[in-house]
Amino acid sequence: MSNVAMHIYMAGIDETVRHRLLQITGFQPREMPFRYLGIPIASQKLRISDYTTLLDALTSGVVDRIYSICRSFMWTTPRPPIAWAELCRPRREGGLGLRDLSAWNRALLAKVLWRLQDKQDTLWIRWVHHTYLQQSGVWGWTARHGDSPLLKQILQIRDSILETAGSPAAAEQLLSEWFQQPRGVARAYDFFRGVRPLQPWVQTVWQSSIQPSHSFTLWLLARGRLPVRARQDYIPDRQCVFCGQAEETLEHLFFQCDTSGRLWGRVRAWLHMRPAMTTFQSMLRTFRQRYRRSYTVTSARHIAMAALVHHLWSARNALIHEGRQLDEERLYRRVQTHVYRTLGVYTD
Ligand SMILES: [Zn+2]
Repeated sequence: MSNVAMHIYMAGIDETVRHRLLQITGFQPREMPFRYLGIPIASQKLRISDYTTLLDALTSGVVDRIYSICRSFMWTTPRPPIAWAELCRPRREGGLGLRDLSAWNRALLAKVLWRLQDKQDTLWIRWVHHTYLQQSGVWGWTARHGDSPLLKQILQIRDSILETAGSPAAAEQLLSEWFQQPRGVARAYDFFRGVRPLQPWVQTVWQSSIQPSHSFTLWLLARGRLPVRARQDYIPDRQCVFCGQAEETLEHLFFQCDTSGRLWGRVRAWLHMRPAMTTFQSMLRTFRQRYRRSYTVTSARHIAMAALVHHLWSARNALIHEGRQLDEERLYRRVQTHVYRTLGVYTD
């Protein structure tokens, strides 16, 4: 064993002891954090960047645990209104743009697979080739009992790429298309998560003039996932809490109910919006109209429509859960004040 290659990591000792230890051992001092078998070792709290290698190859159990923490952060109800996989879609596809960790992990491992078949010259790649691939090559390689979970995961990914591509040559072509260009992992990520068509309401829901909490309510409405009574089988009373005259569906609560109808009427009169607001689709059409003389009026309309939807939903919840009666005048004033504040127009 040669002392030249030996390093020592020290933490929590004073300079004199440190110096003496180096003299006695003849080792080279090194700084923490460092990686041992891929795990970051540190004497202090790890920085986010120190976790990168761990995140690069998470096992599915860890991914599931992270999902479950995120899920309970997002929703307080035991039955989340939208599946986690849907939240992980990009906004343009109707999701919230969270990252699907399991697909991202597969994309990162696909990059390792690409390096393997491309025989890129790193120590690990050379070792894998020497140990596993001498006879079979990447595409004929089979897992043996006792191989590491990482290698087995890479093989699973190879098989799913091979299945889609149809042949080893086509699979190699696919890997090169992804990884010979910048943002290769993002391309592979799209492959593993599956791309969906664009949603027509996305621009409307997430426009920057609308407050994020209002966008969120609008987003749930657009996806048809606000938990109105008509969507809840276990609730015996399904009547609208505002009027008691009809089943509480999304269309009724927000557009057809007399209560919401009166509020829409006031907002429309105030901002000179002509089309009737009787369905979600008619609201979307109004969102897309541009008021030709004024950008501010267009913005005011968007902000007001989103605020009205949001406050109607809050008022409905306050009535159901706290028995607080809806004050139409107050709700209308809140919408108006919110519009003025957002546009920077202050009134008393
Ligand atoms: Zn009603």
